[in-house]
Amino acid sequence: MDTSWMAKGNCRDEPASRFFPSDGVGVEAARRICATCPVKDPCLEYALDQRVDHGVWGGASERERRRILKRRRAASERSAPSPGSPPTPVGASTAPVPGAVTD
Ligand code: SF4
Repeated sequence: MDTSWMAKGNCRDEPASRFFPSDGVGVEAARRICATCPVKDPCLEYALDQRVDHGVWGGASERERRRILKRRRAASERSAPSPGSPPTPVGASTAPVPGAVTD
């Protein structure tokens, strides 16, 4: 896993303890630093992928990351084919149908 983004984070010159706060005030202070971080997205994805339980990563607290993972799991389950649904025929087109209403 590429972690080269870590060297570009706004936190590189901050004490690590700032990102492992013990209360909500500390979480907000860390989130303010993350808010303008150029590597906020890969940082958050790293923490989600690695199931990092502690600290503020990518501007998200532990609780926020649990919520994100829960939402993603739910979305993934909704998009998975339900048991008993017919398989998609091999070679079936997924191209939009002309004239079909799209989002
Ligand atoms: S998003 Fe926050 S924790 Fe992640 S690299 Fe940037 S400053 Fe550090």
